Amino acid sequence: MRIVRSIPELRIALKAVRESGQSIGLVPTMGFLHEGHASLIRQSTARCDTTVVSVFVNPTQFCPGEDLDRYPRDLERDQNLCLKLGVSILFIPEPAEIYPTGFSTSIEVGPMGDALCGRFRPGHFRGVATVVTKLFNLVQPDLAFFGQKDLQQTAIIRRVVKDLNLPVDILVAPTVREPDGLALSSRNAYLGPQNRQTALGISRGLFQAESLFRNGERDAATLAATARQELQGMDEIQYCEAVDPLTLDPLAGPIARPAALCVAVVLGGTRLIDNVLLNPGGEAIQFISHAESKES
Ligand code: AMP
Repeated sequence: MRIVRSIPELRIALKAVRESGQSIGLVPTMGFLHEGHASLIRQSTARCDTTVVSVFVNPTQFCPGEDLDRYPRDLERDQNLCLKLGVSILFIPEPAEIYPTGFSTSIEVGPMGDALCGRFRPGHFRGVATVVTKLFNLVQPDLAFFGQKDLQQTAIIRRVVKDLNLPVDILVAPTVREPDGLALSSRNAYLGPQNRQTALGISRGLFQAESLFRNGERDAATLAATARQELQGMDEIQYCEAVDPLTLDPLAGPIARPAALCVAVVLGGTRLIDNVLLNPGGEAIQFISHAESKES
C-alpha cells in the first residue's frame, strides 16, 4: 500500500496504474474508519484492480460551530485497516493541498442541497460536492463507493455526476449497523453510555416503520409518525420524513414507488442521521448508477 500526501505524487502513482489497464475504485472518507467504511473498501477491492481510499476531513463541508476541530482522527489505525483490506493507495492530503491559497470555485448543487440536512447545515453539500468532484478529477476512478447511510449525499453525488457528465459509476452500499441496530458512524465516538443507549431509538423507530410497511402500511405520514414515536428521548428531532431517494422530494399520501424514510436528530450535542429504504416492489433496491445512464 502506498501512502500518498501530495497531488503530484497521486497523479504519478495513478498514471502507471491506468497505463497498465487496471480499473480504479475510489472510496472517499473522512477517516476514523469503521466497518461501514470497510464494507465500501471490500466492495471496491472485489470489483476493481486498484482501490484508492482518501482520508480527508474536508473543512468546507463543516458549518461554523460544527465539530471540524474535534472530528475524531486515528491515522495509524486507518492505515492498518486499509493495509489489511488490500487498499493500493491511501491518499491523505492536508487541507492546503486540496484548497490552495486563492481557491474559489465550488459546485452549486441546487435545491437538493437545501432539503433534509441542508436545512440545518447550509452550504454543507456544496462542500461535499466540491471535494468529491475534485477527488473524481484527481483519481479518475471507474467506480466510486458511497454508503446509503448518507442518503442525501448519494442522491446529490449521483446528480452531480449526471449533470456534469463525470465519467464515473457510483455504487451505493447498504448501511452497516452495530448488532443492536445503531448505524455505524465516526461520530458515535462522541456518545457517552447513556446517549449511546438513547440513540437506539433512531434505528428502533425506523425498523418499526419498515416492519409496518412490509405488513402493508403505505401512508407516508403514518410511517414517519411511527418512527418519530421512538425519537422522543432525543434533544432535538431535526427531521423524520419520507422522501424520494433519487430526487429527495418529500412524499405524502400512499407510497407507490421506492422511498426513503430519513431521520436526523441531535443528542448530547452530537448530530446523528439514519434512514431505511421502503420499496413497494418488495425487492431490495439496486443502487448502482452508470455515468451516462438515462435515469434521473
Ligand atoms: P465519512 O467518513 O463519514 O465521510 O463516510 C465515508 C463514506 O462511508 C460515505 O460514503 C459514508 O456514507 C460511508 N459510511 C459511513 N457510515 C456508514 C455505515 N454505517 N454503513 C455504510 N457506509 C457508511
